[in-house]
Amino acid sequence: MDAEKQGRNFLASVDHYFDKAAAYTNYPDGLLTQIKICNSVYSFQFPIKKGNGYEVVTAWRAEHSHHKLPVKGGIRYSEHASSDEVVALATLMSYKCAVVDVPFGGGKGAIKINPKEFTIEELEKVTRRYTSELIKKNFIGPAIDVPAPDYGTGAREMAWIADTYQVFNPGQIDALGCVTGKTIPQGGIRGRNEATGLGVFYGLREACDSEEDMKAIGLTKGIDGKTFVVQGLGNVGYHAAKFCIEGGAVMVGVAEYEGGIYNKNGIDLEKLMAHRKQNNGSMMDYPGAENLPNREAALELECDILIPAALENQITAANAGRIKAKIIGEGANGPITSDAEDILEVKNIMVVPDLYLNAGGVTVSYFEWLKNLSHVRFGRMEKRFVQNTFDRLIEYVESATERPLTSEEKNRIAHGADEAELVYSGLEETMITSYHQIREILKQTKGMTNLRTAAFKNAIDKIATCYFELGIFP
Ligand code: NAD
Repeated sequence: MDAEKQGRNFLASVDHYFDKAAAYTNYPDGLLTQIKICNSVYSFQFPIKKGNGYEVVTAWRAEHSHHKLPVKGGIRYSEHASSDEVVALATLMSYKCAVVDVPFGGGKGAIKINPKEFTIEELEKVTRRYTSELIKKNFIGPAIDVPAPDYGTGAREMAWIADTYQVFNPGQIDALGCVTGKTIPQGGIRGRNEATGLGVFYGLREACDSEEDMKAIGLTKGIDGKTFVVQGLGNVGYHAAKFCIEGGAVMVGVAEYEGGIYNKNGIDLEKLMAHRKQNNGSMMDYPGAENLPNREAALELECDILIPAALENQITAANAGRIKAKIIGEGANGPITSDAEDILEVKNIMVVPDLYLNAGGVTVSYFEWLKNLSHVRFGRMEKRFVQNTFDRLIEYVESATERPLTSEEKNRIAHGADEAELVYSGLEETMITSYHQIREILKQTKGMTNLRTAAFKNAIDKIATCYFELGIFP
């Protein structure tokens, strides 16, 4: 299917989910339309010197909702990008921020290139030019629109964006807050790189911790011992797999661009990554697993949890009937089409939806933005103070009980948190609280059948409240 059509289908799926959830509300049509439509899309082209010639590159930035500012959302580099895809992703961002109580509207950007065909110097040129085009149109800034990494981009690209923005805005003291997901020396935050995958783990762990919900799909409580398959070993997929394994789950299958692999007894993630590096970027022929006939076959493996963490439109009406997982945790944005979702529901497969499950990235991006605006590392002011207070408390307890604590006991109790620990803790709290909010909506709403509709309803309610508070829709 061509990229334009994929993008159209993706946007249609997002709008379909919105309509389904909106049916459980009583808001006036005008308000629902305002919450649903995309406020602005900037589409542009620019030339880039590539090799001995020039290439004209197409790019977009969409700002879906300005009910809260800045708007926030990643930038992807993908040859399959399209205007509708960017709008669909920006739309999801608005709802995602609302679900996890991040006070931003939704945005998204894309550059239609295959980054693997560009040198690092060319990628830097593309990124800096893209940023200056956004600056020209006021589509970037710490109070306006704050991009982040997405498919095909990472901390390096974000650092180039921050640097370009600073060059064009001398003296703007909060300039580093114009983008998140940066390297640490460029104002990034510890924990952002792994945040989305870690959030996927926290969310799946929370879902698996409900005995009642697990029983309903024929599983026992807890993530420990559950088997899983991951699609895409990039930023989200790799970290989701890593934390799920640390939480006791067993990775039995992987799908990557080059194919799929399987071992029912478990695949060692780090050994697989090392093999992939040595094997020209391919995980095929890994000695600890068997090759599957193609990458799509991995999605249909026997397992408890399937984590699609590559791209949208991966589980469609064509393959949904063959999915054997009991839970699908959407690491990627939009991996399930709306017609596939109907088939999965009939098969009693629990879907933990993208707008909740992969919101760890934007949550920690929010923390990074706060750090940039406050110009101080989290934990810097209180770490030593807290530790000293605990030390004095321990001294008092030891003398009162006449029982000296071991150094291990002391370390566990007397500990001031550093930035990474605070970020992990803030993310864990967000993922737990948000999960229970949407689960509660699902349980309380008559006729509602899945967590996605509950998450959309949660987002619609929160955004509607903003408009009521603004007095726009009395
Ligand atoms: P990434 O570029 O780091 O990784 C994507 C991986 O998927 C790559 O390893 C790629 O080779 C693989 N892949 C591509 N097509 C595939 C296919 N057909 N089958 C199997 N593997 C395939 O990207 P990412 O940042 O991990 O993003 C992945 C998804 O997660 C996207 O949908 C993105 O929008 C979403 N997401 C990312 C973040 C984030 O913080 N990076 C946050 C929220 C959502």
